[in-house]
Amino acid sequence: MATNRTFTMIKPDGVENGHIGGILNMITEAGFRIVSMKLTQLTVADAQKFYEVHAARPFYGELVEFMSRGPIVAAILEKENAIEDFRTLIGATNPAEAAEGTIRKKYAKSIGENAVHGSDSDENAAIEGAFHFAGREQF
Ligand code: ATP
Ligand code: MG
Repeated sequence: MATNRTFTMIKPDGVENGHIGGILNMITEAGFRIVSMKLTQLTVADAQKFYEVHAARPFYGELVEFMSRGPIVAAILEKENAIEDFRTLIGATNPAEAAEGTIRKKYAKSIGENAVHGSDSDENAAIEGAFHFAGREQF
C-alpha cells in the first residue's frame, strides 16, 4: 500500500555548494510537506549499506567516498504519490539527461555528484526514513 511518503538526502555536493535553501524551496514549492529533517553525515559503513545494491558496480567505491565525505540533509517528505512525484521532481540520475525544471538539472554537476537522492519504492522509503528518524521525530 502506498504510504505517500518518500525519503530524500541533499547529498554532500549540494550542501558544500550552498544549495540547501534552493533545493528545499523547490521541494516545498512542489507541494511536499516536511515530516522530518536534519543535517547529518553518513559514515563509510552507512554509505556502503545504503548503496549496497550497487556494490558490484565500478563506481561503488567512488560513490561511498562521495556520500560519506561531508554533511547531508536527510528528510522524510509527504505528498500524494510521493515516490513517483519526487523522482519526477529530482530528474534523471545523469544531470545531462535531466528535464528542465528538475532539481538535478539546476543543481547537479555530474552523474556521480548529483545533488539529491530520492527513494525508489515505498518499502525503501520506510527503511531509509527509519534509519535516520525515530517515530517521535516524524511529524
Ligand atoms: P539515488 O539512488 O541517489 O536517488 P538514482 O536512483 O537516480 O540515485 P541509482 O541508479 O540508484 O540512481 O544510482 C545511485 C547513485 O550512484 C547515483 O545517484 C549516483 O550518485 C551514483 N551513480 C549511478 N550511476 C553512476 C555512474 N555511471 N557513474 C558514477 N556514479 C554513478
Ligand atoms: Mg537509486
